Amino acid sequence: MLRLFERRPPAASVTEIEVAHSGEVYKVALKRLAKSRRFTLRVRAASRDVLLTIPARSSLSSAREFAERHAAWIGARLARLPKPVAFAPGSRTPLRGVDHLIVHRPDARGVAWTEAAPEGPLLCVAGDAPHVSRRVADFLRREARRDLEAAVARHAARLGVQPKGLTLRDTSSRWGSCSTEGRLNFSWRLVLAPPSVLDYLAAHEVAHILHMNHSPMFWKVTNRLFPETDKAEAWLKAHGSGLHRFGAD
Ligand SMILES: [Zn+2]
Repeated sequence: MLRLFERRPPAASVTEIEVAHSGEVYKVALKRLAKSRRFTLRVRAASRDVLLTIPARSSLSSAREFAERHAAWIGARLARLPKPVAFAPGSRTPLRGVDHLIVHRPDARGVAWTEAAPEGPLLCVAGDAPHVSRRVADFLRREARRDLEAAVARHAARLGVQPKGLTLRDTSSRWGSCSTEGRLNFSWRLVLAPPSVLDYLAAHEVAHILHMNHSPMFWKVTNRLFPETDKAEAWLKAHGSGLHRFGAD
């Protein structure tokens, strides 16, 4: 199984070129890779960008020519990406896998909270309009920390290990990681996913405290903590990149 969320990008030099097509200009990140044998063009959903990897010895002009030849394809792929969703009144954000309608309550007490309503769950935000987006983001991060701390504590207790701390990040390349010192890092966006997905990532990273690799021993421990590993991985593969569109400006 390929674990995209933990793979570090290989060290390579990156330049950016611009490609024009039917009145649009697309930025294409150019990466030279010693081991690449051909030109590979990718539109990445999570980061909403375009990456062209080329063999180390290929010329910049050949890369530019290649990108220009595929400009229409780039435009079509970018247009097909799900649109970014701002944390603004009237938009919806998932929380623990359930869509919540963001509602501004300028005169209410408090900061941000969830509420049940006939039309479905609400995420309510008090205060002035310019602060709504940040307050939603802060609220989701707080909820993420709470869920992750609880899940990590539960899994760590089962293994009898002690994580050295928990940090929230917002990276598009990985959902979680565990340092050799036992520090755990997670994407706060896991709180947008169904709770079982967050729980799986917590189990996965806690299991790394015992095994700093993806050996059969590691998977044995992970599956003991969280039996539906394959299901959670499949969910992330299918829907993970879509979580990155929420809270975009
Ligand atoms: Zn791992």
